[in-house]
Amino acid sequence: MSELANCSKCGSLYVQSFRSICSSCYKKQEEDFKLVSGYMRQKDHRMATMLDVCAHTGVEERTIRQFIREGRLLVAAFPNLGYPCESCGNMIQSKRLCAQCQRELNAEIASLTEQESTKSSTNPNRTKQSRLNQFL
Ligand SMILES: [Zn+2]
Ligand SMILES: [Zn+2]
Repeated sequence: MSELANCSKCGSLYVQSFRSICSSCYKKQEEDFKLVSGYMRQKDHRMATMLDVCAHTGVEERTIRQFIREGRLLVAAFPNLGYPCESCGNMIQSKRLCAQCQRELNAEIASLTEQESTKSSTNPNRTKQSRLNQFL
């Protein structure tokens, strides 16, 4: 039995499978991936930035970011190819936060957990808490 679902990319109805996008979006995405990985295979493009790749392949930046985040595009050899950390804007090449922000976030989580266990009556960390929630 097949169920209908909305494609998470274009929003059109499609028969649900193991993918969250419809087959035409999937096809487009695979074409995009070929374009990007083909571009990146060329030695001259080692110093390419995100803008270069977008401009030369015509692939949307968010699609390229998605490939990087999924680990499909290996960008370790591309020092200029990354996207901004969601907290401070530094360029990163994996996950959503840079190492520095990830460390700070971990420390904040640790201190919040501590406060939680000591049950302080006032809560001066409300704003901190809501900032944290963006990443959890
Ligand atoms: Zn679609
Ligand atoms: Zn950061």
